[in-house]
Amino acid sequence: MSDCAIVGINWGDEGKGRMVDLLTENYDIVIRYQGGGNAGHTVINEYGKFALHLLPSGIFRKNVVNILGNGVAVDPENLWNEIEYVRENGVSLTPDNLKISDRASLLMPWHRELDCLEEARLADKKYGSTKQGIAPFYSDKYQKKTVLAGELFYPEKLRAHLADLLEWKNLTITKVYGGEAWTMEKLESWLSGYCEKIKPFVCDTGKFLRNAKAEGKNILFEAQLGSLRDLDYGICPYTTSSNTIASYAPVGSGIPGVRPQEIVGVVKAYSSCVGEGPFTCEMFGKEADELREAGGEYGAKTGRPRRVGPIDIVATRYGVQVQAATNIALTKLDILSYMKKIPVCSKYELYGEITDDFPFPSALPDAKPVIEYMDGWETDISKIKNWDDLPENARKYVEYVEKEIGCHIGYVSVGPERDSIIIR
Ligand code: GDP
Repeated sequence: MSDCAIVGINWGDEGKGRMVDLLTENYDIVIRYQGGGNAGHTVINEYGKFALHLLPSGIFRKNVVNILGNGVAVDPENLWNEIEYVRENGVSLTPDNLKISDRASLLMPWHRELDCLEEARLADKKYGSTKQGIAPFYSDKYQKKTVLAGELFYPEKLRAHLADLLEWKNLTITKVYGGEAWTMEKLESWLSGYCEKIKPFVCDTGKFLRNAKAEGKNILFEAQLGSLRDLDYGICPYTTSSNTIASYAPVGSGIPGVRPQEIVGVVKAYSSCVGEGPFTCEMFGKEADELREAGGEYGAKTGRPRRVGPIDIVATRYGVQVQAATNIALTKLDILSYMKKIPVCSKYELYGEITDDFPFPSALPDAKPVIEYMDGWETDISKIKNWDDLPENARKYVEYVEKEIGCHIGYVSVGPERDSIIIR
């Protein structure tokens, strides 16, 4: 078994959590390598239904070690609340099956506050942040103004470091935004509260991973969000503040020399997008409401109604290419069962020309979708387990997408449950 990355091909919410939960059976270690608590992976299994924000989706499998890599924004408060939530549902979580990289930076309580202050300042030009502090966190990380999780083991040095950070950060909070200054007392209570609680999980995960690889263990890298939200390759500035693509997985995981041989790109059978920014294939009105309701398209973290549209071949092909996906999991095919005719956005029209190319961010808002229709199957497919048992029109739809995006579709998901999957 080779190492594998599971990544989102589009705007996120493609069903990655569901695929990681399924595929972890074959892996020893699951690592989250970027992002923070700003998105949600939904997992349904024998323990119940969970919206995971920070914890890797392998947490439900016995004998799987789950790691929050150095690339993750570790928010001690959110992480501890999530650990408790999962434990309350009967899942065992110990330092043996959950490890936090000592090189991961901690999301400071002021990062969430700064996120809100900046979105308020942007007013009608806001980026659509989930206000979990992710953008201020990564900005500070790259300025080397955050605290590493491993510093919790050096309390005196940490306090001196925090005093410096506090003085610097208060300049921005009070002078730029007119907010209330943070105090050392407030930071102390954060330290003695949430930080102490997560400290037992913090260790040298780089060493652990090097030893695990020497013993022949297999790794599953779990991405958050999708290609179009990647900081460098996405729809700037409506991206997240980290690299979501598979190439970053080894770097953000703590084992930079390992290359995942398999990259499973997760694509939804239609499109959805949370928040602001250009979304070329967007549908409106009754058609959109029906699809949103059928697909339950409401944000796992925010509860916000998601914008929806048909599958976007142009954006998906681009997403497949930047991820260098080797296999595709097409999810939520069952949701399209109610449609007589299924719309697909096959191309874009940009400045009077028809194009297959995904536009540069400045031109993207000017792109118009070219919509074509395929025949629907209008029958429940959610119990089907074999490819040959799918209605012909459902197979034609999958084959059309496969050909257009240029990557084999090896998994077709027809329901949220672990075993509602067709393996081709
Ligand atoms: P993620 O962030 O990429 O893991 O995606 P989300 O968790 O935000 O969204 C996926 C949603 O679709 C979750 O509620 C899943 O339980 C659900 N889901 C995943 N695959 C399927 C599928 O094939 N069919 C249906 N009906 N639901 C699915």
